Amino acid sequence: MTRRSPLIDDRALRYVLAHSREHPVQAALREATRSHPLASMQIGADQGALLALLARLIGARRTIEIGTFTGASALAVALALPADGHLLACDISDEFTRVGRPFWQRAGVAHKIELVLQPALATLDARLAAGEAGTYDFAFIDADKTEYDGYFERCLQLLRAGGLIALDNMLWGGAVARRSSDPETQALQALNDKLLRDERVDTVLLTVGDGVTLARKR
Ligand code: CA
Repeated sequence: MTRRSPLIDDRALRYVLAHSREHPVQAALREATRSHPLASMQIGADQGALLALLARLIGARRTIEIGTFTGASALAVALALPADGHLLACDISDEFTRVGRPFWQRAGVAHKIELVLQPALATLDARLAAGEAGTYDFAFIDADKTEYDGYFERCLQLLRAGGLIALDNMLWGGAVARRSSDPETQALQALNDKLLRDERVDTVLLTVGDGVTLARKR
């Protein structure tokens, strides 16, 4: 299942990826993930560069990631964080995240990443209950599409004003633009519609990768 923007052809996409900056360890992790049956779930080099740039732009220090898979997005963001930066990585798969952990070590960012293996909603609720609302700068949402709205609502509470949420796969291969009975497509359509009118955030839907929505907390 390759989910890329339907708006760019393969040749142009290869050009974009070839002109996206990566740390050597990021390239090595990409290579290590290539043979995985779900390798297309990994973010592209362009998305990694975007997340890193955004984290730097807003001076992010405390960040959240929902959906770690084999660790590429966590690596991209952790490399962009200051030495005392922190990334709360939420996933349910030990098998997938185990692929990425040695690469976090090799890149010297493992100490910044706290990986919590349980459903992300439970992790986020626990952090809210612990009084961490308003204490995070940045969140990247890239897990179960039918839970996106729940992830978004919790991240919005956990972020400070001016903090940024990035949501991946908001185009879903272009499926969101068509009528659909698929629960994942419908969940993304509902969230796109909601975000268009949500007064709590400033938003833009970018055609990077498979669609990345940025939402800045007001
Ligand atoms: Ca994704």
